[in-house]
Amino acid sequence: MESPPPPLPPPPPVPDAVPHASGSFLPSFVADNQLFQGGLGLMGIGAAVAVARTGTLWASNILRRRMLVSLEIDNRDRAYEWFLAWMAHRTSGAASASRSVSWIRSHELSVETMIERRPNGSSSVFFQLVAGPGTHWFKYRGAWMQVKRERETRSMMGGQQAGMSVPWETVTLTTLSRDRRLFPQLLAEARDLGMQGQEGKLVIHTAWGIEWRPFGKPRRKRPLQSVVLEPGMSDKIEQDIKAFLSRRQWYADRGIPYRRGYLLHGPPGSGKTSYIQALAGSFSYDICLLNLSERGLADDKLNHLLSNAPERSFVLIEDVDAAFNKRVQTSADGYQSSVTFSGLLNALDGVASGEERIIFMTTNHLERLDPALIRPGRVDFSALIDNASPAQARELFQRFYGGANSQVAADDVEVLARKLQEMAETKLKNGETVSMAALQGHFIRHSPDEAVARCPELFVSNTGI
Ligand code: ADP
Repeated sequence: MESPPPPLPPPPPVPDAVPHASGSFLPSFVADNQLFQGGLGLMGIGAAVAVARTGTLWASNILRRRMLVSLEIDNRDRAYEWFLAWMAHRTSGAASASRSVSWIRSHELSVETMIERRPNGSSSVFFQLVAGPGTHWFKYRGAWMQVKRERETRSMMGGQQAGMSVPWETVTLTTLSRDRRLFPQLLAEARDLGMQGQEGKLVIHTAWGIEWRPFGKPRRKRPLQSVVLEPGMSDKIEQDIKAFLSRRQWYADRGIPYRRGYLLHGPPGSGKTSYIQALAGSFSYDICLLNLSERGLADDKLNHLLSNAPERSFVLIEDVDAAFNKRVQTSADGYQSSVTFSGLLNALDGVASGEERIIFMTTNHLERLDPALIRPGRVDFSALIDNASPAQARELFQRFYGGANSQVAADDVEVLARKLQEMAETKLKNGETVSMAALQGHFIRHSPDEAVARCPELFVSNTGI
């Protein structure tokens, strides 16, 4: 007898975790899982906030772009200094009378210190409080403006050499679009204020890294006649510059670089520097003072500086022999100048350009200069500015003690002046001279009679420099 077949095992249970193809699983899971529901809610809110934030940013950017206008000025631009000085002038209350500007008092100030050193060793220090890095507000002609001054210390102007680099800075002015017309007005005011201090004055620039910057306050111009040179010498130099300045087209037509080099040589204290400064003043030119032994100055910077001197300026290189007489100049602290002689020659030759360039060099030791430096094209006009000739001594005396405001009778001044000249002639025959600087110091200290009586003491054996 056949036994009945065993019962079939029950079908394996279908695991719950296997997703249903029908898609009805997620809604039911979400509906059943409270944790998930909470997370999803949060995600939704987060996304909504993010969208709202992006939207707001986008809207505010659009609004900013439509309604606000900004102007950026960086510290390579001359307007930068003018603007900061203008701000300082306004905040100092000096211009409160105009009532065109009012400020929210700023608590972030910077100090700008200027030290002016005079040839006699004295110096003056000036401070100016200007808006420091940060945000400031002011009202100009009824419109509110925001000033943001930012400093970028990582990128420096003029490289990283000690003492030479200047942080990169910008000021950004922002105001309502409808007030954009005020920017040019404001900048013109700042420029006029900046130029006003310089009118009729001599501005001296010095090198800051690769930039030229005004140094100290503009000085009063020195009358050209107050520097007494050998008769005819001043006229000769002046005429040469005038002729050069009138021949721009002549140079351009012949493709010759429009530049001229002058060398004034002679003993110290004969008036070389004073004359060049007075001459610049009489042409309403600035002076760019270049010290070849300056720390951080290398050939490439020198080249850049000479090719980028401000318009209407004389570049003045004093004691040009000093930088190269030992080939490598070492300063008191052991620093060695890195301008090479060939670097200087290259910089003097410069790239051929239509830019006008007038360079003055001075030296106390002509014999120490390499002939390559003083060949035509680098030095086109060379003049000896010597110790006082008898005629110069006489003229300086007359300038000191004569004139309309003199306390001494004109005839007496004449008699004394002639006596001084005769004495100087005798001394010269004996090979003795005196510097104009020494005579000036002597005349400052003494009355006219005393000055003439004691003048022989000043003369020293002429070293024939
Ligand atoms: P240098 O550049 O030749 O060494 P400076 O120009 O520095 O001479 O002159 C030094 C001082 O002497 C100045 O104060 C200047 O006024 C005076 N001095 C020198 N030479 C003359 C001159 N020829 N006429 C008038 N003053 C002079």
